[in-house]
Amino acid sequence: MNEAETRAEHVVSSILEHATSSGDGKNREKTSMNNKSLDQKVKQVAEKTLHDRNYVCAIDILLGIGYLQPVHIDDWKRGRVPYLEKVICANLSKISYAMKSFRVWARQKGLNPSETSYLLKTQNHSRALQFSKSGDSNIELAYRTHYVSPTLTDKKQQKLKENFEKPAEVVVFSILKDSKCDLCEKELFKDSFLYKEQDKALCLKCAKLDELTFLPAGDAKLTRQAKKHSKTYAVVVRFSRARKRYERQGLLVEESALKQAESENNSEKPA
Ligand SMILES: [Zn+2]
Repeated sequence: MNEAETRAEHVVSSILEHATSSGDGKNREKTSMNNKSLDQKVKQVAEKTLHDRNYVCAIDILLGIGYLQPVHIDDWKRGRVPYLEKVICANLSKISYAMKSFRVWARQKGLNPSETSYLLKTQNHSRALQFSKSGDSNIELAYRTHYVSPTLTDKKQQKLKENFEKPAEVVVFSILKDSKCDLCEKELFKDSFLYKEQDKALCLKCAKLDELTFLPAGDAKLTRQAKKHSKTYAVVVRFSRARKRYERQGLLVEESALKQAESENNSEKPA
């Protein structure tokens, strides 16, 4: 580029800058344009989700605007990634802009914030899943909060909140027909237990749940105590053809936890 061209370009860009920006140049203008369209996208997703489901959370927004893929959420929920921001496809300033825009929208809508825990259940313990790289408690809270429609009755809002709070339990199916383990190919006859991991059906041994003992539902107190003492447990459900839904059959708990619960129960009974 010769000197004249350079000067000409400089003049053109000065004019453009002057015409389009009251800030400090093209970059700021570009950023604010992007933020404006991001803001619109966030609001669109938020409105739609609220309309469909009566509540919205940060993950809905991040999925809806394409910053997150369902597979990443799955990895995060299973503890395969240390924190969610690691798999969000946008830089931190974009993420925080989107999150802020979501919160402003929720406030303007008069939605009710509901703090929610996201727990990772592993074989031996459960811990809170981390969203942000920093782990800052305010940022974590912003990610965790669900916003609920105030047009729902109090009872319905309460019910929704209870569902958010429920940690994802390990579920084992008592099967209605013969099946086979996808890993070790062991035959699983009708009425045996089967664990589903993504699209795989596993026997309890392959699911590392084979040391647990089945405690049939019925004694609510014993169930509660056994569950409390058991580091690992799973809920057993079975499909009822008559009622067309899954019904709880009981729990799989550690043998020692069951014994402890039984002895506590017995000692509490009047002699
Ligand atoms: Zn197996």
